[in-house]
Amino acid sequence: MIEASCHCGAVRFAVETAPGEVNDCNCSICRRYGTLWAYYQPRQVRFAAESGPTDIYMWGDRMLEFHRCRACGCVTHWSPVDRAHGRMGVNARLMPPEVLAAIPVFHGDGASM
Ligand SMILES: [Zn+2]
Repeated sequence: MIEASCHCGAVRFAVETAPGEVNDCNCSICRRYGTLWAYYQPRQVRFAAESGPTDIYMWGDRMLEFHRCRACGCVTHWSPVDRAHGRMGVNARLMPPEVLAAIPVFHGDGASM
């Protein structure tokens, strides 16, 4: 199991398995956030029961909620507004560095989508 948290520790989540790869996306928001996205089904990501509140940013077609810790500001994950959508992204930069170091990074071209 891999545990991840924001800087202050208010938002914490765990996944059973490391992602096979993470996405360094060049779209307008990801390049600014500096996130490395790991994709999971929502049921595969367990947020700690006592996880603190997040603020949400939405833009464009407003299909995705980008969550950041309300206390320290770290971008933690995105989730689809439509919960039937079977995919979400977690920011792999919140995972332990030694875990992240072993995961290949691909450069998703979200900018031209
Ligand atoms: Zn925090």
